[in-house]
Amino acid sequence: MADYASLVDRTRTVFFNGKTRSLEWRIKQLKQALLMLEECEQEIISALATDLHKCKFETVSTEIKFAEGEVIELLRHLKEWSADEKPSKSIVNILDKVEIKKEPYGVVLVIGPWNYPFQLCVIPLMGAIAAGNCVILKPSELSSATSAVLAKIIPKYLDQECVHVVLGGVPETTELLKQKFDYIFYTGSTTVGKIINNAANKFLTPVTLELGGKSPVYIDNTADLEISVKRILWGKCVNSGQTCIAPDYVLCTEEVQNKFIEKAKQILKEWFTDNPKESPDFTRIINEHHYQRLVKYLNNGKVVVGGDSDASERYISPTILIDVKPTDPVMQDEIFGPILPFINVNNAYEAINFINSRDSPLVLYIFSKDRKVQDLLISQTRSGSVGVNETVIQYCVDTLPFGGVGNSGMGAYHGKYTYDTFVHKKGCLIKNFNKLGEILGSCRYPPYSDKKLSFIKLLLTKEPSIPGIKYIPHLLAFGLGVLVTYGVSTALKVYKLKRI
Ligand code: NAD
Repeated sequence: MADYASLVDRTRTVFFNGKTRSLEWRIKQLKQALLMLEECEQEIISALATDLHKCKFETVSTEIKFAEGEVIELLRHLKEWSADEKPSKSIVNILDKVEIKKEPYGVVLVIGPWNYPFQLCVIPLMGAIAAGNCVILKPSELSSATSAVLAKIIPKYLDQECVHVVLGGVPETTELLKQKFDYIFYTGSTTVGKIINNAANKFLTPVTLELGGKSPVYIDNTADLEISVKRILWGKCVNSGQTCIAPDYVLCTEEVQNKFIEKAKQILKEWFTDNPKESPDFTRIINEHHYQRLVKYLNNGKVVVGGDSDASERYISPTILIDVKPTDPVMQDEIFGPILPFINVNNAYEAINFINSRDSPLVLYIFSKDRKVQDLLISQTRSGSVGVNETVIQYCVDTLPFGGVGNSGMGAYHGKYTYDTFVHKKGCLIKNFNKLGEILGSCRYPPYSDKKLSFIKLLLTKEPSIPGIKYIPHLLAFGLGVLVTYGVSTALKVYKLKRI
């Protein structure tokens, strides 16, 4: 096994040399990443086809273009996001500078999963670099073709001193986690997320955990069924359901369920013909272990759509299950495959109780035209995010934070949230040795007196929340400026008069 201790040490030395802090260096890396995405497109498409039988359409749209969009966003706003913030200040700091500096953490470890093995590595990697960190990236061993491409192209395009790709599985990651990192960004299962968190805890390393869970869908009878079925099935079929934000199961009445099934049969035939196995657009299951895990779910409840499988290709057809019990295995763990179970509820209140009786999901999907039902579900449940009358696409809105809550994760990224994830916001109070400031502040020094206490109380009192009150320090400063200017000009006049 490689010497990870020395790798981390070397990388930290490079970080402290300050190379990654320069805006020019960071911009150059982002531009290089865009070049990499452009020049290596074909290689990435081939790797994803090898790992997941993923078609070009899905690889380009959900991996390459998505990553490109995030890098462009970082590039576009880097200067603005990196700039010092000047928060408002109170009277007590009227003569001081109050600033928030964006400080990179240092050496960041990014651990990626296999399901979107390219973008889920590249986006946090580029976010960490944009923020001025050095990065060690550990892609998933299960998507070995994509990981090999990452290990080949990243050193070709990005700074080899500051960015490293480490390949390997559990033993390598376990060894890596014995090192002290300054930030860990992990994407993967909740079970392994806990292992990562424990390892980070030893050094009090801050973490982002982008985990999974069972994202429920609630549909009521006001929803446009044709559109709902298409959007839900697409969310379940893209990447063969191996998507952390795929709709996991559906809660609805029996009446809505029956209508859904009829529409689903028709739509799946339009999309994938009678035999989805022959469709070039349908992804396969990543490996034998996950295939076997999923095939067992086909025995839960009753199959009403699909239910076909082929071990030789690790193929499972889009499948709908009904008469499923909440205690069935398919309703215990995240499904992460093209299987959609239905659980019947009579109304939104029953759906809320069901959702709240389980771990907080990564996403809650609501299909309803009724605003009151939408608001009720949003306000009475806890989830990382919400999609109303849509699935998966909320992930692409880069002004929304993406992340889980509780068992579905901690922390969030995308757009500005990606940049913010990888910087420590350092609060700075910068004073000078101005005499007036010292006179104002000297009331803190012993010997204490009631007079000094009254003055301290005055300085520490929070200003009342009156509109415009925050401008008082500015007005005072302006007044002081006017007074000084007036004083100086009067003194000059007197001096001139005296000379005459
Ligand atoms: P995983 O947790 O098995 O593996 C992810 C990474 O952790 C891999 O790089 C792997 O090498 C490493 N790893 C695995 N076991 C480890 C161990 N014992 N010790 C240390 N490291 C270990 O996850 P996965 O199967 O690759 O991905 C599927 C899961 O990830 C699903 O639960 C899915 O919902 C979740 N996911 C979440 C998001 C998100 O953005 N929230 C995105 C994609 C996937």
